[in-house]
Amino acid sequence: MARGYELSADELVQKDRKNMWHHLTQHKVFESVEPTIIVEGKGCYIKDVRGREFLDGLSGGVWCVNVGYGQESIAEAVYEQLKIMPYYALSAGNPPAIQLADKLTTLIPDASKVFISNSGSEANEKAFKMSRQYFRLKYPEKDKYKIIYRHRDYHGTTIGALSATGQEERRMGFGPLVPGFVGIPAAYCYRCHFGKSYPGCNMECARALEDVIQKEGADSVAAFIVEPITAGGGILVPQKEYFDIVQEICKKYEVLLIMDEVVCGFGRTGKWFGHQHFNVSPDMTTMAKGMASSYMPISATVCKQHLYDQFLNDPKDTFAYFRDISTYGGSAGASAAALANIKLIEEQNMLEKVVTMGGYLFDRLGELADMPVVGEIRGKGLFAGIELVEDKNTKTPVSEAYMGKVLGNVASQGVLVGRTNRSIPGFNNTVTLAPMYIVTKDEIDRMVGAIKKALETVEL
Ligand code: PMP
Repeated sequence: MARGYELSADELVQKDRKNMWHHLTQHKVFESVEPTIIVEGKGCYIKDVRGREFLDGLSGGVWCVNVGYGQESIAEAVYEQLKIMPYYALSAGNPPAIQLADKLTTLIPDASKVFISNSGSEANEKAFKMSRQYFRLKYPEKDKYKIIYRHRDYHGTTIGALSATGQEERRMGFGPLVPGFVGIPAAYCYRCHFGKSYPGCNMECARALEDVIQKEGADSVAAFIVEPITAGGGILVPQKEYFDIVQEICKKYEVLLIMDEVVCGFGRTGKWFGHQHFNVSPDMTTMAKGMASSYMPISATVCKQHLYDQFLNDPKDTFAYFRDISTYGGSAGASAAALANIKLIEEQNMLEKVVTMGGYLFDRLGELADMPVVGEIRGKGLFAGIELVEDKNTKTPVSEAYMGKVLGNVASQGVLVGRTNRSIPGFNNTVTLAPMYIVTKDEIDRMVGAIKKALETVEL
């Protein structure tokens, strides 16, 4: 019997098979392999229904349980809040949501207005809708609505956020997607779209933004959405001047800059937000996952004041407001979880730990660099990708099958690591690591050791 549940392990497995439709799992796998059922988490470890323990190198599978499992202060904050007042619609404020908004605007000092919702996709949808309505209010005579996004970036699962996602396999089968979303190449030096090398490249990847704005017509473009460091698309860190150029272009053409911090936010890269490594000040910052370390679902779209102010005046309608709602957004319990999570990060100096342990992680990963299959190691803080290739000269990516075997081998050693999601056919060849902020050197040694052994053992 799994702790706290009424069903035995076999019953859970059988009922899981019968009724569950797991996320991102091939349907054939449902039929042939026993489903994984996770029943407990403590620190950096999870346990499955069969009693097997794994060191979780991916913070909850999708880089989000950033402070680790079993943080009682978060659980208690939620419990206490639910007893006092679980919910009232966010047309009214509530104390945890108000304190959370206040806190977020100290973490992003250029911003002052916070719209709270439930998931990363939703936070991005809000940003798109704000951008469109903003320009319809500001320039009623124009039709400034298009959203530019980058290849390889992921922005969510809802049809709007998916239309802004530059990952082919995520989009396949769902068309037609929303019109008015236009892609530009990724900032990806290892496989430069323009065939150039940094620094002699004129930063073509950033300048591509200007080209597309000119092509589409500046009067038709509302916003550019971007991840500060591309996560699921391969852990791609832009060069330091990338965002200087992007910011300048956005200003020149009056295009809003939306920074998707769903993965990088709340310390993953060693600063509160990934974009704070660069000289850039987004109009809107979206966040989710690490916001409450996934103890509760919560997300936010954090905006500069000028965005909000535009909604004070609708030339055609005295009843002016951002026409949007999210039933659970900013619920008191979820807001309490986020506040307690941020407090924990502060009290335990976790950002410093991310920097220190991240340094150690990259030192250890550096020992893999000479292996024939390792093409490039990249990342920041506790956020790393190891791109695997069949040949270092041709950079031919390793196959899906090889990646599957490597991850299986690592798991058989009791360690869970990830891979770029199966989203760019033929290029799902980066092993990913996003350990929890409480990770120890021994645990990092175990993670890197397991990857090394797998790369030495699995044949190409
Ligand atoms: N943006 C980024 C960068 C993400 O990685 C994700 C989720 N992986 C999302 C948005 C969407 O978040 P959610 O799954 O909470 O909707």
